[in-house]
Amino acid sequence: MIKFHPSERLLRGFAAGDLSSGINLAVATHVEYCQCCSETVAAIEDELAFDLCKLDDEIQSPFEDMLTSILSASDETAVLTKDTFTTDKRESFVLIDGKKFKLPRTVQRKMERQEGQNWRNLAGIHSSALGDFDEYRASLIYIEPGVQVPMHKHKSIEMTVVLAGSLSDEQGVYKPGDFIVLDNNIEHSPKTQQSQCCLCLTVMDAPIQFTQGMSRLLNPIAHLLF
Ligand SMILES: [Zn+2]
Repeated sequence: MIKFHPSERLLRGFAAGDLSSGINLAVATHVEYCQCCSETVAAIEDELAFDLCKLDDEIQSPFEDMLTSILSASDETAVLTKDTFTTDKRESFVLIDGKKFKLPRTVQRKMERQEGQNWRNLAGIHSSALGDFDEYRASLIYIEPGVQVPMHKHKSIEMTVVLAGSLSDEQGVYKPGDFIVLDNNIEHSPKTQQSQCCLCLTVMDAPIQFTQGMSRLLNPIAHLLF
C-alpha cells in the first residue's frame, strides 16, 4: 500500500498544469500508481472546470462558439479527433542487472525519445538519465540488493518515486508508488535489503553531495548518478 503522497499543493499544481515539467513527471508517475491521488486530481479538475463555467457571459461566449463548432464538425473531423486521443496500450520494460521491470506510462513516453538505455554504475547504484525537464534532470536509478547509499544531501530538491522493489531510510520504508520529497535540509542514507533491489524515478536539479567520512571522496564523480 502506498504511504507517501505528494502534498495537496503539488496535486493542485498538477491538475492546473502549473508545474514545471520535471516536477510534473514525478507527480504524474505517482498519480499513475495511486488511486487515491488520482481521485483527488479528478476532483480538483472538476472544481477548476466549475470555476471556468462561472466566468461571465462575455468571456464565455467565445468558448461556447468553439464548443458549438466542435460539436457540429463533420464526421471526418470527429474520426480524426478520436484517433488522436487513442490511449496507448503498449507496454515497455527496462532491463538491468539481469532483471526486467515494467515501466509506468509516464516514463515509457520519455524513453520512446531515446535509443536504448545507457546505465552508469557507481558501487551498486546504477543510473540512466531520461533527459532534462526545465531545470530538473530525470533519471532511472536502480540499486542492487544489499546496498547502502552513503549519507548525502541535495542542493535544493529531489523527488523520488519508487517503481519496483523497495528502499528504506531514516524516514521509513518505501514501496512502489511511494513519493519522496527531500530538500537541502535533509541528509539521508537510503538502502536496499539483502534480498531486495529497488528501481526508482528521480528528479533532481543538481548531483547529490556525499557528507560523511570517506564517501566524500566520491563527490567529484557524483555526477555519474545525476
Ligand atoms: Zn497518492
